[in-house]
Amino acid sequence: MGIIEDKLRILAGKWVPGPRKDDAIKRAKELYAKNQKSTINYIKEHITDKQSVKKVVQKYISLLSDVHMKTLDCDIAVKPTQLGICINYNLFNSNYEKIVSFAEKYRIFVWTDMENSVYANATIKAYLAALKRHKNVGIAIQSKLKRSYHDAKLLVKAGGTIRLVKGAYKENSNIAYTKRRQVDANYIRIMKYLFRNSKKFMIATHDKKMICKAIAIQKKYKRNISFGMLNGIRGRLAEETANKGYETRIYIPYGKEWFAFAWRRFMEGVNVVLIIRSMLNL
Ligand SMILES: Cc1cc2nc3c(=O)[nH]c(=O)nc-3n(C[C@H](O)[C@H](O)[C@H](O)COP(=O)(O)OP(=O)(O)OC[C@H]3O[C@@H](n4cnc5c(N)ncnc54)[C@H](O)[C@@H]3O)c2cc1C
Repeated sequence: MGIIEDKLRILAGKWVPGPRKDDAIKRAKELYAKNQKSTINYIKEHITDKQSVKKVVQKYISLLSDVHMKTLDCDIAVKPTQLGICINYNLFNSNYEKIVSFAEKYRIFVWTDMENSVYANATIKAYLAALKRHKNVGIAIQSKLKRSYHDAKLLVKAGGTIRLVKGAYKENSNIAYTKRRQVDANYIRIMKYLFRNSKKFMIATHDKKMICKAIAIQKKYKRNISFGMLNGIRGRLAEETANKGYETRIYIPYGKEWFAFAWRRFMEGVNVVLIIRSMLNL
């Protein structure tokens, strides 16, 4: 992995502004000057020891205080596997509650990332519980998963706020769509459901077709929508969307453990073969 890791580190610099929260805040400020908002995430995932989970919770509390002080229009995003879901549900749920209630004091919105499908039930359960107590929480739904249309309905009926994504994790074909056109068709199906039934949601994609479709449907429904994109991917498209007057929010990950995040981005890059060739100087 050595040579690939070295080259991937260079590529990761496009997506991850640095290891410290100040790096992420600096990037959020740059984007804010260009009329784009942010969502900051601390990179660490699949934690299996309680001490490391505790440190992550402290990182978010400190991040929330800084974001509040800087008065940036900035959300945060948390991953269940960094808050203890791999250890036990109650630990995850209480950490999640702690972060969401702390953020609520500062009127900061907390997005709940959706990870591998094995955690989907527990993630949705904790989200629905939080939603009964707090308004500042949203959840990602992946169009790749066959269950997601029904999850979206359940969540919208409970008053939830959805961030619609295609899904970044490898899943088994009995529970997930494996062909791009199926994932896209399900994305459109869920998006149309959201336009008909939800007042506020996020269309998170770099797929221009999906963005144009959402803009066209929005003309009829006039919902409170935002567009989400990842830092360093299709920046010009994000600028265009923001300049058209649509809320555009960029997901900024920071932290030392950038590898898993960068690897997922790398694997979904437009042409993996070309990237590998250029990384290895072939
Ligand atoms: C704000 C936000 C939050 C997200 N949260 C989650 C989450 O909680 N859970 C989850 O599973 N996934 C999440 N994702 C990732 C998402 O599921 C997809 O894996 C990712 O967005 C790529 O899919 P796409 O919708 O951009 O469409 P695609 O069809 O994959 O890509 C459309 C176009 O975007 C460009 N592009 C996409 N990816 C890359 C890349 N890596 N490098 C260069 N160009 C690229 C290419 O031009 C491509 O043709 C999130 C994405 C965003 C934008």
